[in-house]
Amino acid sequence: MNHDRSRDLYDRALSVIPGGVNSSVRATRPYPFFIERGDGAHVVDADGNRYIDYVMGYGPLLYGHDMPDPVRAAVQSHASEGPMYGAPTEIEVDHAEFVARHVPSVEMIRFVNSGTEATVSAVRLARGYTGRDKIVVMQGGYHGAQESTLVEGGPDNPRPSTAGIPASFAEHTIPVPFNDEETIERVFEEHGHDIAGVLVEPVLGNYGIVQPISGYHETLRELCDDYGSLLVFDEVITGFRVGGLGCAQSKLGVTPDVTTFGKIIGGGFPVGAIGGKAEIIESFTPSGDVFQSGTFSGHPVTMAAGHAYLTYAAEHDVYEHVNRLGETLRAGITDLCEDRAPEYTVVGSDSMFKTVFTRDAPSSLGDQCADGCEQRTDCPRYDHCPKTGGDVADAETERWERVFWQEMKERGVFLTANQFESQFVSYAHTEEDVEETLEAYKEAL
Ligand SMILES: *Cc1c(COP(=O)(O)O)cnc(C)c1O
Repeated sequence: MNHDRSRDLYDRALSVIPGGVNSSVRATRPYPFFIERGDGAHVVDADGNRYIDYVMGYGPLLYGHDMPDPVRAAVQSHASEGPMYGAPTEIEVDHAEFVARHVPSVEMIRFVNSGTEATVSAVRLARGYTGRDKIVVMQGGYHGAQESTLVEGGPDNPRPSTAGIPASFAEHTIPVPFNDEETIERVFEEHGHDIAGVLVEPVLGNYGIVQPISGYHETLRELCDDYGSLLVFDEVITGFRVGGLGCAQSKLGVTPDVTTFGKIIGGGFPVGAIGGKAEIIESFTPSGDVFQSGTFSGHPVTMAAGHAYLTYAAEHDVYEHVNRLGETLRAGITDLCEDRAPEYTVVGSDSMFKTVFTRDAPSSLGDQCADGCEQRTDCPRYDHCPKTGGDVADAETERWERVFWQEMKERGVFLTANQFESQFVSYAHTEEDVEETLEAYKEAL
């Protein structure tokens, strides 16, 4: 594969854009390939190379790169009529009604412009609503680029995970290991009456993928109820991906107080949203006293794309298709690993998939989870599969990034470039794409 033009473009980019990219995960080694266009489930780079794409914009592109006709029509008409006004439009109400109708916990919703903005607003909302300062987050959980959640360490020694955040901000955040009931119970015993909310991805989607062990979210729900804290599900990645239109909360059967959305809910355009019980969401200004505002919020083009996206999914076999191909991939990779790398753990559900390069194999794979790790206690892998963000970080992360990812790229398969980020199947992927992908995994594993 020739990458000359991508290399030249990256050279230019490095002079004017820090690290040559506008989002850090894009700076793949030795240099990223620049995309010229999308085509169904494929992307074509600046040198004309074609790849089967499982990055899918890091999550938003449920349909791949070609918009279904009604989506294209909605986007074009709203773009040409406006594109935006600074006054409300009907499409915002349509989209809000749709989400409230389909997501169990959502009675009201406020739209913003990114997942980060959604979690920033959700944290402010939890603090304003409860009158408390502390926020609990999961180690390895990701809630965007924001001050209250870019925090690492443990409950007793939280510290900023990046330069630029005062240690005094991190003091209000309590990071705990995902799936660890003992620690969260101890944290609530000690700080419960100061905890405004627990912010958790239903499934760790940016650091894994890690599924919850049975009962974990129920424990969070009970603790939040007992102490008057808000349970905030960050469904930016799982929303309208896991559990279909009901989102991960409907699949898990746990009802959060507040949910943050992003990615798919904007149909491929910049978006975020905060939904939940009316009584809580009405705390936002102008109905309440928690300030929240945005020039581009509820942008008509985004709302039109998001609404047409979800309406299309309600009327077609979208989730059936992507989930079936997801299962084929997970089962296929599980078989390949059994043969070639029995220490690796295949993870994911619905249309999300990943292989964590874990280091220890159980002595027998016997009756292991065949459709991605489900944290089944009777699976021979149970003691080996990742339960926390730390377990994923202990995997062969360098091998993924420096060897495996490169080999898959050279075989025409575009995966997420590090061990941590999920991969996605879209409605545009076909059985043939999946077969070709499994063939590439077979050679590269
Ligand atoms: C992507 C993501 C975010 C951040 O969303 P942006 O639109 O990138 O700001 C927050 N939370 C989760 C769970 C995400 O996957």
